[in-house]
Amino acid sequence: MTSLGASLDLPDYHIHTPLCHHAVGAPEEYKAAAAAKGIPEICFTDHAPTDTDYDPAHRMALGEFPAYCGMIADIRTPGPPEVLFGVEADYYAGCEAFLERWLPRQPFDLVIGSVHFIAAWGFDNPDERHVWDAVDVTATWRRYFDLICRLAKTRLFDIVGHLDLPKKFDYRPSDAALEEMAGPALDRIAEAGMGIELNTAGLRKPVGEIYPSLALLTWARGRGIPICFGSDAHQPDDVGEGFPKALELAYAAGYTEYFRIRQRRKTLLPLPPRPSPLS
Ligand code: ZN
Ligand code: FE
Ligand code: FE
Ligand code: ZN
Repeated sequence: MTSLGASLDLPDYHIHTPLCHHAVGAPEEYKAAAAAKGIPEICFTDHAPTDTDYDPAHRMALGEFPAYCGMIADIRTPGPPEVLFGVEADYYAGCEAFLERWLPRQPFDLVIGSVHFIAAWGFDNPDERHVWDAVDVTATWRRYFDLICRLAKTRLFDIVGHLDLPKKFDYRPSDAALEEMAGPALDRIAEAGMGIELNTAGLRKPVGEIYPSLALLTWARGRGIPICFGSDAHQPDDVGEGFPKALELAYAAGYTEYFRIRQRRKTLLPLPPRPSPLS
């Protein structure tokens, strides 16, 4: 059964909670929004804590992690939507010592690996956007993809979050430079058996485009990298937002399958059919 505004039969695997200090809405409100849109399953992936002072403004403290577990456990009643438990963990130089110990001890379904910082610069933070005007854009993107290579080599994460996040404010390298610098990162992602997400948050940002671009997604497809879908919701209305466009993008890149995940094991399924204009 479908209803007006219904989303496609795709899980939303990227959802935040107020514990990160920049999202609003209780987990049950995100779940209710997903139910109203016919989304079959959702995974909460709030910003992971660290054991250092790395970017404390945008994540729960380590001492709040039990509260996060409890919040999600409380709404894991039978669906739809099924509720999965995950985290968006930052990759940065030196993150490995903590994550190697901590991640395997948690009952996660999904661990997203994301890069939000180049050295001390939060390059996707609107408050630090002006820095883009002072840097070499292509060199900056190259540093970013070098961090993605390192992220993949750790084997700590299931997917890469928002693979071309540096485009958020529409500062971009040439297509040729992008292909040359992203190739090694995509190779490392494929070697690690990792997936990537089609993250629709970019539609709500200045760039106005899903992460990753069609070109990147096509190169990922060529390497057999599996995909999932995420809204990167920071408020309940964001859940499932942009998924019809994301499905179109997946087909345009040549994908016919996506994966669902449980306890960090991926299972491939056929993509749902493209919605017909009259349905
Ligand atoms: Zn966030
Ligand atoms: Fe992120
Ligand atoms: Fe996120
Ligand atoms: Zn994110």
